[in-house]
Amino acid sequence: MEKIDAIVIGGGLAGLSAAYKLAEAGKQVILLERGDAPGSKNVTGGRIYVDPIRKYLPGIIDAAPFERHVVKEMITVLDDTGAVAFEYANAKWRQEPYMSYTVLRAKFDSWLADQAARKGAFIIPKKKVENLLWEDGKVAGIKSGAEEIGAHVTIAADGALSFMAQKAEMRGPHKPQDLAVAVKEIYQLDRKVIEDRFGLEGDEGAAGLYMGSLTQGMFGGGFLYTNRDTLSLGLVLGIHQLALNERGFDAPSLMESFTARPEVARYIRGGELKEYSAHVISEAGIGTMPKLVRDGMLVAGDAAGFALNLGLTVRGMEFAVASGVLAAETAIEALDKNDTSAAGLAGYEKRLRESFVLPDMETFRNAREVLDRKRLFTVYPRFICEMFDELFTIGARPKEGLYTSAKRVAKKYVLNMDTIKDLLAARKL
Ligand SMILES: Cc1cc2nc3c(=O)[nH]c(=O)nc-3n(C[C@H](O)[C@H](O)[C@H](O)COP(=O)(O)OP(=O)(O)OC[C@H]3O[C@@H](n4cnc5c(N)ncnc54)[C@H](O)[C@@H]3O)c2cc1C
Repeated sequence: MEKIDAIVIGGGLAGLSAAYKLAEAGKQVILLERGDAPGSKNVTGGRIYVDPIRKYLPGIIDAAPFERHVVKEMITVLDDTGAVAFEYANAKWRQEPYMSYTVLRAKFDSWLADQAARKGAFIIPKKKVENLLWEDGKVAGIKSGAEEIGAHVTIAADGALSFMAQKAEMRGPHKPQDLAVAVKEIYQLDRKVIEDRFGLEGDEGAAGLYMGSLTQGMFGGGFLYTNRDTLSLGLVLGIHQLALNERGFDAPSLMESFTARPEVARYIRGGELKEYSAHVISEAGIGTMPKLVRDGMLVAGDAAGFALNLGLTVRGMEFAVASGVLAAETAIEALDKNDTSAAGLAGYEKRLRESFVLPDMETFRNAREVLDRKRLFTVYPRFICEMFDELFTIGARPKEGLYTSAKRVAKKYVLNMDTIKDLLAARKL
C-alpha cells in the first residue's frame, strides 16, 4: 500500500496542533475533519490557559484570535432563591503575557488550521473517518467512504468519544459515569455593554462559575465567559445522573431555568441568542485513560481523556494542544528512524510524563470521585446561602445573636459525620 507520513483524525486543537508540528518538520500530513470546517463542530466553555502551552506553539500562540484576557474570577453559589457571589481578581493578570483568555472555537480552530496549512498540512473538511486500515496487525491508515489513505502513523484526535481509539482496541466502550453533557448558548451584546456589566476595561475579561441548585442535586455546574461582543453561557451535567434522575429534568429545561435566574439574566439581558450547542465532556480522569500508543497509532487530546474539571477550573484545551504537539514530535522521531511500531512510538508517554499533561492528570486522579458527591451540589450551597441569609435578614421578631444563628445553621447542615467524610474525601484532591 502506498503511504504518506501521517494522517490526523479530527480538526480540533489536538489534531490541528499535531498537523502543524508535523508539517513544520517537513512531513507529509493529511488531517481529516468531519465538520464543515475545523472548529465548526467544536464546543468549549471556554477559557484557555495559555501559560502551559506557550512553549508548544512558540511564535504563533500569542497571535491567536483570542477574545479577552481573564482578569476576574466570579463564583456564585445558588440555592432555590438566594445566591452568594465571590469575586477574585489579581493585578498580575492584567500584565502581559496573559495567563488565560476566553476563546471561541470557531475562530480559534480555523486560525490554527490556517497556520497548519501554511506549513504544508492538507486540511480536508467534510471528511468523516469511518474506519482504520490494517497491515499485519498494525494501523496503516484510514477509510473514509470509498477512499482509503495509507499512512505510516495515524494520530487519533477525534474528541471525547473517540471511536477510533475504540476501533484500534486501545480502549473499551465509555461508561456513562465517565462523561458529562454540556449545553451552551452564545449571546451577542454590544462590547461596551459587556464591559460595563462586568466592570471590565478594554480587552479585559471575566470568567464565571455557578454551582448549587441549578443542577438540581446532580453533578455539574454553570459557566459564563465574556468574549469581545458575546457571552458564552452553559451548563455541565453528569450524563449518568441525568439519565437516573427521578424527577425527570432534562438539560435544555435546566438551562432555561439557569438563564432565568436573576444572577444570570442580568448579564444576558437584551442580548441576541446567536448559537445553541451541546457536547460531551470527558470526566473520567487518568484512571480510565486508553492505551496511548499501538503499532502505527497515537491518541491525543480528549480522545485520550486528557481533561480535568475541578469545579473551579475547567481544563482540556491546553492538554489538547500539548498532547497533539507531543504526539507529532514522537511521530517525527519515529518516521526519521523508520520505526513506527508501538516500540518506535513509545516515547510519547515519556514526553507526556515530562510535560504538565500526565503529572496534572495524575495529581487530580481522584477529582471525579471527590466532586461526584451529592452534598456538594445540595447541602453545602444551601448551607452557604442560609448562613448569609441569617446574617443579613432583619425581620419583625427580635434578632438572635450572630454566633447562635451561625451555630444553628451549621448544625442543620454541616456539623455531622457526612461532612467529616466529605472532608476526608477532599484530601484526595
Ligand atoms: C461545554 C464545554 C466546556 C468546556 N470548557 C472548557 C474550558 O473552559 N477550558 C478548557 O480548557 N476546556 C474546556 N472544555 C474541554 C475542551 O473543549 C476540550 O478538552 C478540547 O476541545 C479537546 O480538544 P480535542 O482537539 O481533543 O477535541 P475536539 O475539540 O472535540 O475535536 C475533535 C475533532 O474531531 C472531529 N472528529 C470526530 N470524529 C471524527 C471522525 N470520525 N472523522 C473526522 N473528524 C472527526 C470532530 O468534529 C472535532 O472537530 C470544555 C468542553 C465542553 C464541551
